[in-house]
Amino acid sequence: MDLTHRPRRLREDRVRELVSETSLEPADLIAPVFIDATTAERQPIESMPGHERVPIEDSVARVEEVLETGVEAVMLFGIPESKDAKGTRAWAEDGVVQEATRRITAETDAYVITDVCLCEYTEHGHCGTLEPGIRETETGSREDPSLTVDNDATLESLRKTAISHAVAGADMVAPSSMTDGMVGAIRDELDGEGFDDVPIMSYAAKYESAFYGPFRDAADGAPAFGDRRHYQMDPANAREAMREVRLDVKQGADVLLVKPALPYLDIVADVRREFEQPVAAYNVSGEYAMLHAAAEKGWLNLEETARESLLSIKRAGADLILTYFAEDIAEQLR
Ligand SMILES: [Zn+2]
Repeated sequence: MDLTHRPRRLREDRVRELVSETSLEPADLIAPVFIDATTAERQPIESMPGHERVPIEDSVARVEEVLETGVEAVMLFGIPESKDAKGTRAWAEDGVVQEATRRITAETDAYVITDVCLCEYTEHGHCGTLEPGIRETETGSREDPSLTVDNDATLESLRKTAISHAVAGADMVAPSSMTDGMVGAIRDELDGEGFDDVPIMSYAAKYESAFYGPFRDAADGAPAFGDRRHYQMDPANAREAMREVRLDVKQGADVLLVKPALPYLDIVADVRREFEQPVAAYNVSGEYAMLHAAAEKGWLNLEETARESLLSIKRAGADLILTYFAEDIAEQLR
């Protein structure tokens, strides 16, 4: 028996930190914030304990709460006062994200990233304009389930949305619709309007995942019919993720995001290995909700499992992590 090699030597308390390979810092974390133009009061989100939709008037106060924990970046999602077929409130100058962005950037030092998508703004809840000829029926279903979003028409809406966020003061825009060509279209629009210094964090590999459930409560963005499998990625595919990411890199993506995180750590690691850009991972609402649910039953320790989750995402190769645990974990880390 050869016991020359004993890895346990380095697990002693005074040395384990010295040899630790991965560290988690509040500065790695981005807190999602939901701004709701339909409410005058903060609304708790039932399936995401501790999170609320806040009215525009409370947007600065909400972001200040985040900053106090040591987290320096927020991702804004908007719930508009009204929805229509094309999602026109997504690019309205007085839209919910635009208004909140103006206030937050004027009054705080937060780094403001905005979600650029249409699903919260369209009455059908899909991430773009529907293909010609597709109509919602009275029952909320439609004739041909093989068709969904008109890719190229949606690019136009994404351009307008991204530029309206930049004009309002967004520090970074984050297109999340998995529309082919979205990064190039937004880069072109931003550069053409003099916003060449605004980076794009692309949801480069976003999977059609069942782990998004609670977010749809939060952002009121569940599709009224069908699902998003015709534009988001098939959970079975890993090579396709590399192709998706490569296309976004060619179009000028500055940060490459993988969503969800925990069930897709192999993808995070692959993107880290293949590309030089910073990698982000989105620890999604379902990943948050399931730990809370188990902790409520006394089956898991919430703090420890949350921290271990984020550490594993970092270890897999993510430089930044979007997470609903951002504030809690940042406070623990301080
Ligand atoms: Zn969307």
